[in-house]
Amino acid sequence: MTLSPTLTFNDGNTIPQLGYGVWQVEDDVAEKVVRQAFEAGFRHIDTAKIYGNEAGVGRAIASSGLSPEQIFITTKLWNADQGYESTLAAFEESMDRLGLETLDLYLIHWMQPKQDKYVDTWKALIELQKRGRVKSIGVSNFTIEGLQRLIDETGVVPAIHQIELHPYFSQRELRGFGAANGILTQAWSPLGQGGELLQDPAVASIAAKHQATPAQVVIAWHLAIGNVVIPKSVTESRIRENFAALEVALDAEDVEAINALDKTASGEGRIGPDPAVSDFA
Ligand code: NAD
Repeated sequence: MTLSPTLTFNDGNTIPQLGYGVWQVEDDVAEKVVRQAFEAGFRHIDTAKIYGNEAGVGRAIASSGLSPEQIFITTKLWNADQGYESTLAAFEESMDRLGLETLDLYLIHWMQPKQDKYVDTWKALIELQKRGRVKSIGVSNFTIEGLQRLIDETGVVPAIHQIELHPYFSQRELRGFGAANGILTQAWSPLGQGGELLQDPAVASIAAKHQATPAQVVIAWHLAIGNVVIPKSVTESRIRENFAALEVALDAEDVEAINALDKTASGEGRIGPDPAVSDFA
């Protein structure tokens, strides 16, 4: 079976570039769809404590017949658990739900600048990595200033930064900061949550040219520009379709045409909260 290519973190570990996300998937449904994702070829699963489905993901892992070496699991520390000791405790609870001994990637879910606990939280992730409980550590929804502060105050550069990123909001500046500092970029809501983007005429025409679907073209664009990408679907045919995007090879002109759809500068492309100001429990 074809598997996803991998990218290498600044700590030497690797991550499958194409993964499967489970936001807004009920716990019992998560068990079923993660199993379908494994059957389709996905080996990288992205969950979070706040998704409420770590246990379902854990059951899918346990019944998959796959060994820990064959899969890559990410979960995320929720905002209310930020702080050194509370992070260590929240991590163990996530691991109990997942049923894992070692985690592949642990992320701080949001920077929460007003809360201002993210440096202490990052120190706890560094400790968990030192103890061998987690292989790689990273963050999600940070600003350049926040990333720089983590680096300056701890000397440990996040392996990856998971951010909202799709053709309408392609975050060139944040990606550039990551590339310059050895931080991989991971795209959340990579399909623009299945909205207008998948109806875009430019995407449709590239899809027709490659006899692919719009979702496959968008995933192929992420792969072509070096993003780690975690599309979500709870429909088995779409899970398979999204994995088969690995077979779609875009030309340089296709990538340029999709790059041109970006609306980051006007702020119009953003779907989710802005990490610079977001502050929620
Ligand atoms: P997405 O961009 O992956 O879009 C998912 C939606 O697109 C589906 O619900 C479906 O409606 C549609 N879709 C999927 N495949 C399709 C196909 N082949 N054809 C047509 N429509 C299709 O949105 P998402 O779920 O927001 O993001 C993906 C993952 O990113 C999440 O599941 C989660 O793991 C992660 N995420 C992280 C954060 C964060 O704060 N770190 C925030 C949001 C999402």
